[in-house]
Amino acid sequence: MLVCANWKMNTNVSEGLENLEKIVSRVGSLNNVEVSIFPPFTHLDAFKKFLDDKNSKITLGAQNIHSEEEGAYTGEISCRMIQDFCKYVIIGHSERRLYCLETNKIISKKLQQVQKNNLTPILCIGETKEEKDRGEVKSVLETQLTKPLEGYSKDKELVIAYEPVWAIGTGITPGPEEITVSHLFIKEKLLNLGISEDKFKILYGGSTNEDNVANFAREKDVEGFLVGGTSLVPEKFIGLCKNLNASLSTKGN
Ligand code: PEP
Repeated sequence: MLVCANWKMNTNVSEGLENLEKIVSRVGSLNNVEVSIFPPFTHLDAFKKFLDDKNSKITLGAQNIHSEEEGAYTGEISCRMIQDFCKYVIIGHSERRLYCLETNKIISKKLQQVQKNNLTPILCIGETKEEKDRGEVKSVLETQLTKPLEGYSKDKELVIAYEPVWAIGTGITPGPEEITVSHLFIKEKLLNLGISEDKFKILYGGSTNEDNVANFAREKDVEGFLVGGTSLVPEKFIGLCKNLNASLSTKGN
């Protein structure tokens, strides 16, 4: 399973390295879990050197990327700039949709850019509380999948993170069976779009912690986690990764 630690806009480089060191020493080589860290852009170079030095299996990702290859886009970061450091790129996180007004059209361009540069996108989708209350979960997921995936090459790896917006950073989570219903819906949509099962993974994100992770991981179509708050506290994040790894060992994975 894949566990992605989204650090958002937290830590400076030396604080980040301190946390990374703890994570590497405790969960740097788990059997059943690929740990991937998504620090701020400023940390990537130092983190890559550190991980290479330790010969660690931990991978790196970016929290966002610009939709164009290069050019007059002051302050932006392109795929080519992070290619030497990253395996993954998060696209369309709900915070970017909300605060940076990212539309499905922009997200679609970003996805294509990520693919073109041989990075693996993690496309975040999920309904708000209001949309859930109006019974619109499936239609929201459908739109957030179909529009961005127009023009996407089906032969490349794709990761989808199902993140109900109301579960992000709130401590409130859907029940495991609710997660399964959404994951199954997403899986069916991807298959209908002609993407074969071996090309995609579906992660869950939203208030995952060391206590609830094993419970979620028991659900059939949950193939990993996108973790925010818990990933910022090394002890908690290490606990999450270890508990998940242990639960998968018992499951015989
Ligand atoms: C996120 O922001 O992607 C996330 C899942 O955050 P948290 O784990 O804090 O809910």
